[in-house]
Amino acid sequence: MVEVEPVQQWCEVSPAAIAVESAAGLAAIAAGGYLVARYRRKLFPLWAAATTSWFTLCKYLICTRCEHYGKKCEFYNLGLLAARMFSPQPDRTLTRAGYAAEGLSVAGMLLLPFTAAWGDSKRFAAYAALFASQWSTQMLVSCRHCARTATTPWKAQCPSYQLARRIWT
Ligand code: SF4
Repeated sequence: MVEVEPVQQWCEVSPAAIAVESAAGLAAIAAGGYLVARYRRKLFPLWAAATTSWFTLCKYLICTRCEHYGKKCEFYNLGLLAARMFSPQPDRTLTRAGYAAEGLSVAGMLLLPFTAAWGDSKRFAAYAALFASQWSTQMLVSCRHCARTATTPWKAQCPSYQLARRIWT
């Protein structure tokens, strides 16, 4: 089993970095929602459910069990949002339900729009660029910091954590 291996003490990342990351994330989500609503209308409820789930259910199943619950964490500062919605659960860990909710929510929110962009090369390239911008800023801002500082054991199972450790530690 992979273990977390912090190489520096945790601190908040700069507000400017969070702002850039959040702008890239919101742009991808907004464009994805638009594409699905316009070109795959029947799938829009699925996209909306996945997006709502990512901002609520995943916060409950993951963030309430994280060392950064209630903080301006490196992941879009979402530890603050989690604390506004749910009580902390420090004695619980990330379970299969959490992994499944995260995987399905991200797939619906960010990958489903590719099906709506399919068939039009400009539309597809534009969404692919926004998706790449979201993913790369998240890796640079969130995952790089997490890989260097995390102490919550279940974070070591995250594929992005493992990739970021190989690159930045
Ligand atoms: S670091 Fe990740 S799991 Fe922890 S509070 Fe922030 S968004 Fe949630």
